[in-house]
Amino acid sequence: MPIRVYNTLTRRSEPLNPLTPGKIGIYLCGPTVYDDCHIGHLMGPVLFDAIARWLRVRGYDVRFVNNITDIDDKIIERSQRSGEPWQEITRRYSEQYFALLRRLHVATITDHPRCTDFVPQMIRYIADLLAAGRAYVTPDGVVYDVQQQPGYGKLSGRRLEEMVAGARVERDPHLRHPADFALWKRAGPGEPSWDSPWGPGRPGWHIECSVMTYHTLGPDFDIHAGGEELKFPHHENEIAQGEAHGGGYARVWMHHNLVQYQGSKIAKSDPRMRDPAFAEQFKAWRVLDAHGAPAIRYLLLSGHYRRPVDFAPAAIAAVRTALQRLLAALGERCEAPATLCDAAGLAALLERALPERAAQARAAFIAAMDDDFNTGAAIAQLHILSHEAHKEAEDSAARAAILDVLAGLGRILGLFQPGDRAQLASTAGGDERLAKVMELVLELRAQARARRDFATSDFIRERLQAAGITVRDGRDGTTWS
Ligand SMILES: [Zn+2]
Repeated sequence: MPIRVYNTLTRRSEPLNPLTPGKIGIYLCGPTVYDDCHIGHLMGPVLFDAIARWLRVRGYDVRFVNNITDIDDKIIERSQRSGEPWQEITRRYSEQYFALLRRLHVATITDHPRCTDFVPQMIRYIADLLAAGRAYVTPDGVVYDVQQQPGYGKLSGRRLEEMVAGARVERDPHLRHPADFALWKRAGPGEPSWDSPWGPGRPGWHIECSVMTYHTLGPDFDIHAGGEELKFPHHENEIAQGEAHGGGYARVWMHHNLVQYQGSKIAKSDPRMRDPAFAEQFKAWRVLDAHGAPAIRYLLLSGHYRRPVDFAPAAIAAVRTALQRLLAALGERCEAPATLCDAAGLAALLERALPERAAQARAAFIAAMDDDFNTGAAIAQLHILSHEAHKEAEDSAARAAILDVLAGLGRILGLFQPGDRAQLASTAGGDERLAKVMELVLELRAQARARRDFATSDFIRERLQAAGITVRDGRDGTTWS
């Protein structure tokens, strides 16, 4: 049975057919390194690390590219505001990103190209687009001409006519179409710049990914990945550039859903994120410190990637309990050195004789991963294996075999790594107990409100506020942070 993948471009599940037999190239859009990562930035790397691990055990040689955007308007703005050199800012936040990936056991990324290492290649690529009549020069730099691109909008399902209607009134008079986008931006006074035939400046955001895919994976490659918020305009524009440059670009587009809190996605653009106290709780390093990196990895893989991940305190508490249960069942098996599993490793797990129900769970794990990398369904099978192990006698060979298979399959997802048990234990307790206590307090407050006892309800909220806990009453119920 071949692996099947849901392709956003064709809007269908398709068998995965690599361009070169036995090899898969994946490109995942990486972070712009000007600020602390938040929890949402970790979804892509963790998910595609699990996917790359799975492709590996299915016998593929995987090249996994995850770029670093280290020049951008936001980086320049931050540097101008703080007076800190932009290179220092990007160095600090890219190191933070790499440290977070290590803590989360992301181990399969083979390349982290940086935008600033590819500027000469971007200039050549832009010159090619100009020569092909797909771009034009304006006083501000070089712009891509979307009207020259047949099928522009095919990924996101948008039409150019709608983009005109939706464009803002004060449109740039130098643009031929409101959806035209910058390939090269002429530098303002004091801004970092590179020399180019169009004056000193810097590359636009979209061009960097097209150029870095070209120079790492080639003009055509297997999988382009990213968060669903990147479909338009970023990925649409990447396709336009890649096709105009003569490539077919990515064959399969995979978009993961986002981490959500109180019903809306956690993104820098969320107006609530302007409140520093609100934003603070989603900072990735803080989240990992508070809940333990193993629990966050598990949380990010606990559903299907095309559905949102819930970041509510109760969801995190549930995940911690579930993971702790598995780790307790495995015991010292988690502490064995963890190497990346390969096809031979998976074959060895499949050869182990298991009682019938456990063997079914093992097969279901494999089927779930082969069917569009359904990590949530795969993790559910790990719990069935754990349950089946407990039905066997303490020292029986059957129990040992089930637990060995459980450990091996979990490790393919990057779970059950050495040190995970200790990390979970050291971040333990407080948060889960707090979540349970808050559940009780908010339940009592809801009862007070139901009987119109607003004095008690306000008293509870004020006392919680004094203790540093903010309660918010929204349309979807009451939440706290
Ligand atoms: Zn990108």
